[in-house]
Amino acid sequence: MSRVVFFSLLLLIICLFFTSFSNGAGPPAGSKGPAKGPSPGAPGSKGPGPGKGPSPGASGPKGPGPGPGPVSSSDPGSLYKSFLDCLPTQSPQPDPSFSTIVYSSTANSSAYTKTLQDHIRNKRYNVASTPKPVIIATPKKESHVQAIVLCAKKLNIQIKIRSGGHDYEAISYVSSEKKFMILDMFNIRKVDINIPAQTAYVEAGAQLGDLYYRIWEKSKVHGFPSGVCPTIGVGGHLSGSGYGTMIRKYGLSIDHITDAKIVTANGKVMDRKTMGEDLFWALRGGSGSSFGVVLSFTVKLVSVPKVTTVFRIEKPVEQNAIDAIMKWQSIMPTIDNDLFIRLLLSTNKNSIRTVFIANFLGDSSRVLALMNKSFPELGVKKEDCHEVTWFQSLFYWAEIDYNKSKPEVFLDRKTVPNFFKRKSDYVQTPIQKAGWSAIFNKLKGLDKVAMGFNPYGGKMSEIAANATPMPHRAGNLYKIQYSINWGESDPKATENGLKQAKDIFEFMTTYVSKNPRGAFTNYRDFDIGVRSGDGFNSGKVYGEKYYKGNYERLVKIKTAVDPDNFFRNEQSIPAQSKKG
Ligand SMILES: Cc1cc2nc3c(=O)[nH]c(=O)nc-3n(C[C@H](O)[C@H](O)[C@H](O)COP(=O)(O)OP(=O)(O)OC[C@H]3O[C@@H](n4cnc5c(N)ncnc54)[C@H](O)[C@@H]3O)c2cc1C
Repeated sequence: MSRVVFFSLLLLIICLFFTSFSNGAGPPAGSKGPAKGPSPGAPGSKGPGPGKGPSPGASGPKGPGPGPGPVSSSDPGSLYKSFLDCLPTQSPQPDPSFSTIVYSSTANSSAYTKTLQDHIRNKRYNVASTPKPVIIATPKKESHVQAIVLCAKKLNIQIKIRSGGHDYEAISYVSSEKKFMILDMFNIRKVDINIPAQTAYVEAGAQLGDLYYRIWEKSKVHGFPSGVCPTIGVGGHLSGSGYGTMIRKYGLSIDHITDAKIVTANGKVMDRKTMGEDLFWALRGGSGSSFGVVLSFTVKLVSVPKVTTVFRIEKPVEQNAIDAIMKWQSIMPTIDNDLFIRLLLSTNKNSIRTVFIANFLGDSSRVLALMNKSFPELGVKKEDCHEVTWFQSLFYWAEIDYNKSKPEVFLDRKTVPNFFKRKSDYVQTPIQKAGWSAIFNKLKGLDKVAMGFNPYGGKMSEIAANATPMPHRAGNLYKIQYSINWGESDPKATENGLKQAKDIFEFMTTYVSKNPRGAFTNYRDFDIGVRSGDGFNSGKVYGEKYYKGNYERLVKIKTAVDPDNFFRNEQSIPAQSKKG
């Protein structure tokens, strides 16, 4: 194995580990959450049937391995043929390439299986019993996407849109409806950096690593505020909000989107000007897959200094870890916006590991002065600080050695998936010392659970809750991600992992936001509700947790642009019409 390949695999393992430290909330054992209600396609939906098929959450690891598995239609062969026959009829010009971009389990099964599995990031949804799509279409250009949308509509096939496949509940490639297909965007992934204009044009199928790498190629003083895992897809990440270590300085990815191009349910291509400000607003955090297929985003780059400082400090329990946490909690919301310190709690042989990881947009002397003044309890020393470039800081967060690996590791799309569950919460009132002691005690009994605490404040407090659909801004001290990982496909391991997720989430109820209990859109969690027959009201259950008061505006926009509810999934924004 070459060194680059080795480090790239390492990066992706770590990436999965770290994601456990960025979100969080969980379904019952066996993940039966979405299975209970009728499917999203139910009453009134022009889409396919009542969705009695297996729910994504129910696809626990019951079988020996991925394999072709049950396909979601009794006759995928004829659907594949009908779909291929349809594509030229919906294309503006003759296109001989259609047959090379469509896969089914019967027509070209090995390519179908490889394409399906290439972007599966959660092994919980990659087992024999996981529902499989009737078709996978991998468009290479805009007109392909248009034809695919129109043909799916004509043939009554539900579309699941996938860019990077990182959705925690696999909503982009599994469905509770029987007749569904994947529109996989990975071929549409150009990135164009314009330094004079300080912008980036980035296509939905690009991954964050592509964007970061292309920025680094052109400039050492520009960056973009997004997530820490390079294989995350732009299509899902940017339409779902996107945060990373620059959140306190620059807010979320969506706060920097200046244009977007989409294909709507009637097959039209629209940009900001033609779609209008309402739909453009909805696409910035309201979940793209409820409104259309995002082709690309244009974003404004941000300035980063030539030197970024990173450090990591572990505080053993016996060295007053809880006092350090109390101090972290009190200073982070208002400290210098250049500083981000994530707190991580995990169990280690009946003891709790407390780790602080910091990113500072500036040099070590400045951060040391700041820490000595505001957070001396952490005891940060010069030798703990690593001065790196902003691009190298991304390697640091992925725990990959920037001295030993090539920058091109960020272009690698391979991942090493795990079995996992994630949940999220927001904390608005400081947790008292007794509360932290209780959390420590609780974690001791949950060996699979880790918690990541991501500070807000700074820029996040300056942006209005309705500026974008993502409402969790001022008033939030930090976001919690509950991260539950397990390595085995044994159904008992899954049951145990999901049970621990539910357990810690219930335990935390008294400490976190209420009415509604907020959740982060990019941390998909079916436990907080799924769509059922009554689209508006069932949508409200999860919609208000993700979007608070912005939910109703999202419903109005959805109703205006996709009244037939063509773009739908288990947690989509419902159209409030006869459909639902
Ligand atoms: C390892 C890992 C690390 C993570 N780290 C972070 C982090 O640091 N910060 C953070 O904010 N989040 C993080 N996340 C969460 C991640 O941002 C979300 O899961 C995001 O939605 C993934 O986007 P994707 O394109 O890879 O996923 P997909 O599974 O492809 O899509 C996710 C959702 O977006 C929709 N979608 C995808 N592409 C399009 C498109 N072109 N048009 C319309 N809709 C589309 C899908 O249908 C689905 O609803 C992490 C996730 C993982 C697995």
